[in-house]
Amino acid sequence: MSDTQKRLADTLPFMSATEVSALVTSKEVSAREVAHTMLDRIKQLDGDIHAYNEVTPELALAAADNLDKRIAEGATAEELGKLAGAPVAFKDNMNLVGTHTTCSSKMLEGFQSPYDCTAVRRLLDAHTLPLGKLNMDEFAFGSSTETSATGLTHNPWDHKRVPGGSSGGSAAAVSAGMATITLGSDTGGSIRQPAAFTGTVGLKPSYGRVSRYGCVAFASSLDQIGPFSHTVRDSALALGAIAGKDPLDATSMNVPAEDYFASCNQGVEGMRVAVATDLLEQEGLDPRLKKEVLDSAELLAGMGAEVVEITLPSTKYGLPAYYVLGPAEASSNMARFDGIRYGHRAENAEDILDLYMRSRSEGFGDETIRRIMIGTYVLSSGHYDSYYMQAQKVRTVIRDDYKAVFAQADVLLTPSTPVLPFKFGEFADDPTAMYLSDYYTIPVNMAGIAGMSLPTRLIDGLPASVQLVANHFRETDLFRAGAALESSFAFPYDSVPAGQA
Ligand code: GLN
Repeated sequence: MSDTQKRLADTLPFMSATEVSALVTSKEVSAREVAHTMLDRIKQLDGDIHAYNEVTPELALAAADNLDKRIAEGATAEELGKLAGAPVAFKDNMNLVGTHTTCSSKMLEGFQSPYDCTAVRRLLDAHTLPLGKLNMDEFAFGSSTETSATGLTHNPWDHKRVPGGSSGGSAAAVSAGMATITLGSDTGGSIRQPAAFTGTVGLKPSYGRVSRYGCVAFASSLDQIGPFSHTVRDSALALGAIAGKDPLDATSMNVPAEDYFASCNQGVEGMRVAVATDLLEQEGLDPRLKKEVLDSAELLAGMGAEVVEITLPSTKYGLPAYYVLGPAEASSNMARFDGIRYGHRAENAEDILDLYMRSRSEGFGDETIRRIMIGTYVLSSGHYDSYYMQAQKVRTVIRDDYKAVFAQADVLLTPSTPVLPFKFGEFADDPTAMYLSDYYTIPVNMAGIAGMSLPTRLIDGLPASVQLVANHFRETDLFRAGAALESSFAFPYDSVPAGQA
């Protein structure tokens, strides 16, 4: 290895996309070298971490060569953009031609992506380099990536702990420096909770901001795709690339992406920041994480923001209502995996009913089956009114609660999760206890608004975080406050133990 190669191997994993693109577009380093360096690192580290379900050297090198050719032909940094040459990867529920899309389920083992997911396509159109597909909880049901049929993903900060879920692979890949930006999906917290557990920035955009086309649906009224990154500015760039109307998704809104990168430089002078006092008294909240919220409020106030105290009493209904609505929609979305239209087909079935039953019992894991059973139950004729309809009403109450908050404030500051990353198997016998780790994230999906988890400090070697929440289509406020907090905390993301080669 030459000296330059060695230096690149040491520094590239924790560079921001802007730094990578500056190196590549100035011809200091070729995109091909960037791709090789990252592929080598994955080879070296991913045996222990298992963030990737599939690594795609051919795709990464082809994209790199393409970019190098454009640069050789005289394309400028301005034309190519600030993401050019950045190594990226995707949660394994997003289709990309030339890769499998398995949702980490036996049901979709070997399934070849027939087309591209719009968000994936858009990120690649920004001249990024696709490294592969990332592990997740089966069909995105879970909070620890333990329900994956392809095995556990380890938290790069402590291998005995979970990386969070369901986008655990997307979080661990960035955290361990095995990708600069990854995409995940968030239905009740699956971007923000794993971001919190791995010391990465995780953004769930407003519902309708990013097309869901080509991302395997969990709960269609709650799902949203968003980025993981080391920095708030990279998150801004990634959202800028993937946001905006898509004719292939009727729920994507016809609102153009804004200059989120510019928002990061705006500062917080005059911004109104709400702190929900009742949420900080919630039983089960680690006092150390409560302190991160209070400290963040103080830092923002010190930079010129005005802090307002509010309450959000409907938060406690978020979780129970979500575990009615989420499974209800999931049970309907899972119906297509029947061994005929899609998915694993059992052998030697006696008749059609037997084929359905055996294909589904063989293909789905326990958590998926649990969700389907809950979902069909709450939608059944005798229970529809008492569960499903009630939960929809709760959803309206939650939305109204946030409306009142955003009449008085621009952003809301809360914990991302009530706890620090937990150990494998900690909730093996009690799935409902694990569900609590999404306490602060779920209501944000229920209201369709935007949220970001942001790393603050290390506590006993584990990443701590806070969540910022903004009104519908007000992501610019998240980036303003997020960038300000990030520079105050200066979270040491490059000190991750797994990253020290
Ligand atoms: N952990 C939550 C669940 O299990 C959220 C999952 C998600 O956002 N995809 O449903």
